[in-house]
Amino acid sequence: MKKSMLLGGLTLTATLLLAGCGKSEDVLVVGTNAAFPPFEYVGGQSGDEIKGFDIELAKQIAKDAGKTLKVENMKFDSLIVALNSGKIDFIASGMTITPERQASVNFSEPYYEATQVLLVNKDNESIHTLDDIKDKHFAVQLGSTADMMSKKYTQKVTAFNTGFEAIMELKNGKVDLVLFDSEPAANYLAKNPDLKLIKLDFPPEFYGFAVSKQQPELLNSINHTLKNLKENGQYQALVSAHIK
Ligand code: GLN
Repeated sequence: MKKSMLLGGLTLTATLLLAGCGKSEDVLVVGTNAAFPPFEYVGGQSGDEIKGFDIELAKQIAKDAGKTLKVENMKFDSLIVALNSGKIDFIASGMTITPERQASVNFSEPYYEATQVLLVNKDNESIHTLDDIKDKHFAVQLGSTADMMSKKYTQKVTAFNTGFEAIMELKNGKVDLVLFDSEPAANYLAKNPDLKLIKLDFPPEFYGFAVSKQQPELLNSINHTLKNLKENGQYQALVSAHIK
């Protein structure tokens, strides 16, 4: 085979590989786990659109960077791996800034304060303080802060790919409680009147957008967008439209 043909073939393969990853110069790829309403969820008119508060912020981040946003929906516990392998450019997934995660990725300035809450079946009267959740059977989302935190209280933890599946397990009476982030828990509660939400003394958590440590410019650009959105009132408008 002629050398030029071989090179041509290689270039074509490289181009196709890049296209396969959805990566191109003018596209910014955000990774999310769209089972976390109101921050990210599947819905809209077509029923398969990825929407939510984080997605609106991500759109503005892409716009300010002069790029088109592409959303990749994946498992929550695959997001950091996807980021560090270059499959996605940043994570917008209600991800709490934690020291463990900061060891492998950079986070933007915090953009939302949350906390953990409990969901239990409505007839459960046994939980009033943190002491009452000791040794209970927890359902959590795999790889979440709730997953990590639950181990302080119990050995009985079942982890699911989505909060939704954890809630199904609760409704089926297989676990005592779901430990989940406050806003998605309230969102699921609204559709499940047979459950109730319990607030205990859990610490605050701050969500940030995660960026690879190799991309300091993207991190700056995200922080810049967040600052602008806060200053021009659009951030508050998005909170009112999506959250409260
Ligand atoms: N905030 C939690 C975390 O970072 C849960 C996020 C999520 O499930 N999307 O682990």
